[in-house]
Amino acid sequence: MTKCILCGEPKVVRFLDLGSTALANKFVAAEDLHRAEATFPLRVGFCSECHHVQLTDEVPPTALFDDYLYISSMSDTLVRHLHGLSDTVVKRFKLGPTDLVTDVGCNDGTLLRGFARHGVKILGVEPAQNLARLSQRAGLPVVVDYFGTESAKRLRAENGPASAITLTNVFPHLPFLNDFMQGVDTFLAPNGVLVIEAHYLRDLLEQRAFDTVYHEHVSYWALGPMARLFARHGFEIVDVERLPVHHGQVRVFAQRKGVGQTSTNVTRLMAEEKTAGMDKLATFQRFANEVLDLKTQLDSQIARIRAEGKTVVAYGAPAKGSTLLSYFGIGPDRIRYIADKSPLKQGRYTPGTHIPVVGPERLMEDQPDYVLLLAWNFADEIMEQQAAYRARGGRFIIPVPEVRVV
Ligand SMILES: [Zn+2]
Repeated sequence: MTKCILCGEPKVVRFLDLGSTALANKFVAAEDLHRAEATFPLRVGFCSECHHVQLTDEVPPTALFDDYLYISSMSDTLVRHLHGLSDTVVKRFKLGPTDLVTDVGCNDGTLLRGFARHGVKILGVEPAQNLARLSQRAGLPVVVDYFGTESAKRLRAENGPASAITLTNVFPHLPFLNDFMQGVDTFLAPNGVLVIEAHYLRDLLEQRAFDTVYHEHVSYWALGPMARLFARHGFEIVDVERLPVHHGQVRVFAQRKGVGQTSTNVTRLMAEEKTAGMDKLATFQRFANEVLDLKTQLDSQIARIRAEGKTVVAYGAPAKGSTLLSYFGIGPDRIRYIADKSPLKQGRYTPGTHIPVVGPERLMEDQPDYVLLLAWNFADEIMEQQAAYRARGGRFIIPVPEVRVV
């Protein structure tokens, strides 16, 4: 058993072992294909003390974020979503021109731009140099750093306290949770609010979204353990809502104890987590067995298609796709290429499995018989975009939460 990143107790029990895999976002350039790739164990455990679900092996953070390829503004849906979040926070906490909002892990600045529309002061903190540069070039104030106790002292001295600190899709990445919360305590104004959006463990379980597991995601958040973490630092969750973005997230508002009124949403969701057995190891062991079943189903589906002499390619090269391909042992011998809209990924190869990524126009040129949908959480959107391919008889294989051909 390993030591819990939340409570510090050596009580983390492994329940899912996805093998030793390359970093899911490190798409390989053609000239680097001959070089050995670094791989790290990808294993998930459950803390029997505080119930926090987490990776059980450390990954050096610099290996993760130096050159990060995921960009918020690539998806229209996500831009709308993040701007909506800024509207909500400004309105609910009555932020004005003297208030400072800091977005931690600000990516390309999409959320900061949302806040800037309201005339509040903005500041981004982003450890990935390439992304920070994107924001800086667009004229946004961004500090290249990890957020924690040390950087928070500097941020506070240089900018004064923040009225709001936001994190979207960043909280699961943090390896040093208590250092982070100490930083929040240093930098956040007494009545300030911490706003977190992160994928939600209950959705992950219900959708069998095991491919959400990759090295960048150190934590898999449920509300119970999150409340415990906050309580250790004098904070409490005042409100929460479930969001349909990605494949299910929570939006959490936390403040210093006693500052805000706790919504009934919080107690209701906590009770639901208990009913769902999220405080029990057996729940997660069952999940691991379901994932094994998926692998068997997809293997036989692809074998059947290939035995008929038909062709299979894939669509969408998100980081989650890297986990799915490597855990299921699918390489270029079975999937000829992956079509993806992102020009940053085209011309590169999937980490570990080395399947080439090409532009989506290839689907229409080749008209393959089957397309494995790796970005299965965007199934409706993608199938709509690829209506022409389907009209010509092409079919999609959706691998999760169960293997379906449509
Ligand atoms: Zn723990």
